[in-house]
This record gives sequence, C-alpha cells and structure tokens, in this order.
Amino acid sequence: MQDFNYHNPTQIVFGQNRFNEIDKLVPKDANVMITYGGQSAKKYGTIDKVIKALGSRKIVEFSGIEANPKFETLVRATELAKQQQVTYLLAVGGGSVMDGTKFIALAVLKPDSEYQDILSHGFAPVPQKEALPLACVATLPATGSEMNGFAVITLNEQKYPMFSPEVYPQFSLLDPDLTLTLPKEQIANGVADAFIHVIEQYLTYPVNAKVQDRTAEGILKTLIEDGPVTYLDNNNIEARKNFMWSATSALNGNIGVGVPQDWSTHMIGHEMTALFDIAHGRTLGIVLPHLLRARKQQKHAKLLQYAERVWDIHNGTEEQKVDEAITKTEAFFNSLDIVTRLSHYNIDEQGIEKIISNLNKMGMTALSETQDLGLDEVRKILLSAL
Ligand code: NAP
Ligand code: FE
Repeated sequence: MQDFNYHNPTQIVFGQNRFNEIDKLVPKDANVMITYGGQSAKKYGTIDKVIKALGSRKIVEFSGIEANPKFETLVRATELAKQQQVTYLLAVGGGSVMDGTKFIALAVLKPDSEYQDILSHGFAPVPQKEALPLACVATLPATGSEMNGFAVITLNEQKYPMFSPEVYPQFSLLDPDLTLTLPKEQIANGVADAFIHVIEQYLTYPVNAKVQDRTAEGILKTLIEDGPVTYLDNNNIEARKNFMWSATSALNGNIGVGVPQDWSTHMIGHEMTALFDIAHGRTLGIVLPHLLRARKQQKHAKLLQYAERVWDIHNGTEEQKVDEAITKTEAFFNSLDIVTRLSHYNIDEQGIEKIISNLNKMGMTALSETQDLGLDEVRKILLSAL
C-alpha cells in the first residue's frame, strides 16, 4: 500500500424524514443561498421542506443550475451571492447542483476577473485558502459530490475538473425518499457512475491494499445487487438506501487512499458529454468495457481478482475469467438500458476525432494509472466502441 493522508470533514445525515436536522447544522445567523436546478427540487416540494427547516434565517434562492453546470450560470449565482452578502450555501440537487455550488463557494471570495482561474488547476487543489461554507441536500445518488471536494464545470464545450479541500460539504442530508421522483434513466446513470468511480480506483495494478480492495469489491457487489432492483422497483426502500450509500462511499476518498488510480474512462467520457450532450453515466458505460478489453494486459492481475471476487467466476483459464468478467460488466450496464456503443448516439469516426482533439486541448494525452495511455490508443478504443 502507498502512503497517504486522509481527512474527510463531511458529516452525513442519512435517513428518511430528517429535514429538521438542517436547523441544528446551519449557523443560526447564516444568510443562506439555496441553489438548485431546473424544476425537480421545487416541483417535488424539497425546496419548501428546506425553507421550513431553515426557520427565520435570511434566504435567497438561485435556481437554474443546469445538468453539467455551466461557468456562465455559476458566475450569475456568484454575483447574486455577493450582492446579497450570502454567508452559507445550501445545494439541493444532484451532482451538477452540488458541483456548481462548490465553484460558487470559491468564486464568491474572488474578484470577478479571477473566476476562471478556479478551473485551471485540474485535480491539483485550487490555491485558495478559504471558501464559503456549504452543505448539500442530495437528490440523486451518483457522483459522491455530497462527500468530496471535487467538481466538474463546463466552459466553452469542455469539462474542467476542480478540487479544493475547502469545498467539502459541512454536512449532507441523504434521504432516500428524495430519490423516488427520479426518472428511471437517472437511476441507471447513477448506478453506472458510482460503479465506474469504484472501478477507476480499483482496476489498476495490485499494491496489497486489502481494506481498500475489499471495500471496493463490497460496493461493486452491492451496486450489482441493488442497482437493478432500484432501477426496476420504486417500492424497495432498503435497496434504494444501499444504492444511495454505495454511491457516496464510492467517491468519498475512502477506497482511493493508498492505491493507484486510473481516471481515463471519466476523462474520455467528459469530452463526450461536452461535445454530444450524452449523460455522464452513459458516456462511462460506453467507454469502460472497450477500455478494459484494450487494457487487459496492463490490468491483468486486478481484472482476475475482479472476476473471481466480484463476479464469482471460478472456472476456466485466467484469460477466460477476465473475458467473462468484462462481458458481465457490459451486460450489467445493458440490463440498466445503458447502451455500450457510440453508433447508438450517431457518433462516427469524425466524432471520435473531435473527442481526441478535445482531449488533446485539455492536455489529457497520457492517461491511465501509469500514464501510458496515449491518444492513438484512445482512438483505437473508441473505434472498437463504434
Ligand atoms: P445531475 O446533472 O445533477 O442531474 C440530472 C437530472 O436529474 C437533472 O436534470 C435534474 O433535474 C434531475 N434530478 C435530480 N434530482 C432529481 C429528483 N430527485 N427527482 C427528479 N429529477 C431529479 O446528475 P448527476 O449524475 O448527479 O451529476 C452529473 C454531474 O456530476 C456531471 O456534470 C458530472 O461530470 C459530475 N460529476 C461530479 C463528480 C464529483 O465527484 N463531484 C463525480 C462524477 C461526476 P432538475 O434540474 O430539474 O433538478
Ligand atoms: Fe462520475
């Protein structure tokens, strides 16, 4: 196992009907900005519950943070927060609203000429020592944003990852009832996103990190069991709770410490969303099976472990086990109606060249856990996904 520091300051409030906790957790004198997306949080009554829980605190609302949040929208929210002298941000929504709110938390303390600088550091911490405090009411289990310091912001058709230790939510309310209004395809997107978050921290090369590996395998097995149940059955609240906590546990840092990580599938998928507007989880579902087939040799030991421990494949040669595990992974996505072919979205060879060009512009030219995945190989992977 590699050396690591681990600190996650986010308090989780997990369970049904726990909105009254918000009153205890937000400072009494806070001047709160509630941020949310298009329709859902207002329409389904979540905003009303939040406002009620906040009691007599001063509140300003900012709605309209779109899926794959745009820099320009967040600049408008930042200007409003400055104008209203907001002291606390409360994000109510999915990954897009939570991510966007993290950007706002940093931007509010900067002059407007420096907003864009927040997006210029990749996965390295944004060099800013302070942010407005923020918290989340999560309505979509998927990204883990409710318990991490990451965000992904879209600017000029490109997706910029950002990270800051200052933007971990102070607390996140995870109420599985809030997810009951999700359209089915959003559940599928969330299962795929959470599954692939685990895979990108697990399917690399072995470093004898037993706790991280076994925790990762437990989350993957839970998603395989309870993801499809949640997808098909709105009444199974226990499956939904397990899915929700799996999504948070997948990207709260716990399984990623002390191990190599490979975020290639995310980096390629991000450009597909930015260029072709395909939902995040779905882009990952297309890339992963084809990437794993191309990287079988480099990932052999962990793929074999994945086959045996996650998919319980015990018969055949090592090669056959690995192949079967990748086939089962693809079938798992397909069982959630996630298509694993680019042609389904009418993306052809020209489209692939656009993805490659975007990756090049973003400096994503040496991907994988060993930085040996260049753009020629990415092109081959995408051609095999046509
Ligand atoms: P999302 O983009 O936040 O939401 C997708 C859609 O779901 C929205 O249109 C939203 O509608 C709707 N929705 C949300 N909650 C709902 C509910 N309870 N009922 C009905 N509809 C609901 O989806 P996401 O997958 O959570 O987030 C994706 C974003 O997160 C991407 O930008 C991705 O790059 C990023 N991401 C971040 C991390 C991280 O670590 N921070 C990791 C992976 C991905 P309304 O707008 O009407 O509310
Ligand atoms: Fe993701």
